[in-house]
Amino acid sequence: MKPLRLTHEFVDYIPEQLDAGVLYVSLRFTTVIHLCCCGCGSKVVTPLSPGDWRLTFDGASVSLSPSIGNWSYPCRSHYWIRDSTVRWAAQWTPKQVEAARARTGQSGQRGSASKSRGPAARLLQRVLRWLRP
Ligand SMILES: [Zn+2]
Repeated sequence: MKPLRLTHEFVDYIPEQLDAGVLYVSLRFTTVIHLCCCGCGSKVVTPLSPGDWRLTFDGASVSLSPSIGNWSYPCRSHYWIRDSTVRWAAQWTPKQVEAARARTGQSGQRGSASKSRGPAARLLQRVLRWLRP
């Protein structure tokens, strides 16, 4: 896929109708939202915080870091936004998806299973009961 130029708009509130190729930057909500650059129309929300994404604005163009990995969407697109230009990255492999899920704690499988059973979980519950007033 060829590089794609994006524009950006600083907004207070995210508009209901999003245009493709526009990065909507809400400083009020420290969030950037755009339609997936592959053209699938999925809304991609990238919260801005030290643990999430970082927005760089040089007065003319914007960059987002780290890359945008839409592994939860059917298109599984993966790209960088650098100087308001989309740089396509390699598609996510199932292994990378797994790693990303584990990193962001969105797996929901391993985490919740270990919490509900096993001696460690029972011990944790007991400790929590002690801690409660
Ligand atoms: Zn897409």
